[in-house]
Amino acid sequence: MRIMNGAALAKKIRSVLSIEIDFCKNKYGRSPKLSVILVGNDPASMTYVKNKGKACREVGIEDDLHFLPFSTSQDELLELIHQLNEAPDVDGILVQLPLPKHIDKNVIISAIDYKKDVDGLHPMNVGLLNTSEDCIIPCTPKGILSLLKSENVTIAGKHAVIIGRSNLVGKPMAQLMLRENASVTVCHTKTRDLSYLTRQGEILIVAIGCPNLINADMLKPGAVVVDVGINSVDGKMVGDIYNSIDVPSIEQKASAITPVPGGVGPMTIASLLENTFEIYRRRIQ
Ligand code: NAD
Repeated sequence: MRIMNGAALAKKIRSVLSIEIDFCKNKYGRSPKLSVILVGNDPASMTYVKNKGKACREVGIEDDLHFLPFSTSQDELLELIHQLNEAPDVDGILVQLPLPKHIDKNVIISAIDYKKDVDGLHPMNVGLLNTSEDCIIPCTPKGILSLLKSENVTIAGKHAVIIGRSNLVGKPMAQLMLRENASVTVCHTKTRDLSYLTRQGEILIVAIGCPNLINADMLKPGAVVVDVGINSVDGKMVGDIYNSIDVPSIEQKASAITPVPGGVGPMTIASLLENTFEIYRRRIQ
């Protein structure tokens, strides 16, 4: 079974980006800039935001981190987003999710200028993706597609089965696979016979956030498996499949899998950097 090394591809993407960003900085006189907003001090979100800032700095993207207290009101957050929308030197805006319950996530996402929406979650970007038009593609599905392509996985004509239908991963992933001419099945908590459907998947993409739900019996022999999940078990990061109790049998059944860590995670960050740079280029040229 082949391990699809997202960390290695992400490193290559970052090194190409560093060169391009350096060139553009000399030509246009400023670096790309990503503003990231975190409301509250959830430890996992704090780590994600700091990692995003560090990844930006490493390739020459200016990071502009806004740590707001949990008590921040929706109006205060909207005011900050408005300022960042108007700021000429801010290219990308990202609001770290989840938000506190007193803030309506949909109102906030819709308030971001869709041309600066690096996460591709604004309704305008969602609609453009659904109609196969030029748009900002959500980072995780974009990273998965890049990894599959770099691993020479044939997508056209294949049956892709996706477990999970979130706006962040499952739904945009389904759209991207359709755009690549796969036949697509999307499964979720109401799916009646999950095993029957997963056994049809020549490409199986699992984004549930629940370890050990999928076992080797549920795979089609030779399936390419993408493990998106991030779970903590006994303080160790594990995927939805990778590192599960059934790994030896999964290894015999699948033809390729993404590891956790080192698979989809680094590709998500690399795609965030790519999205920021693409927005910067569109704005500056
Ligand atoms: P989510 O909670 O929004 O969605 C989970 C989806 O899984 C839902 O659509 C739900 O219907 C489905 N689901 C849950 N239990 C199921 C079951 N028993 N049977 C069938 N379907 C089931 O989560 P999300 O934001 O889509 O993220 C999913 C996982 O991917 C999480 O572990 C998250 O941490 C991880 N993630 C990883 C990255 C990365 O960069 N590696 C990025 C985003 C999300």
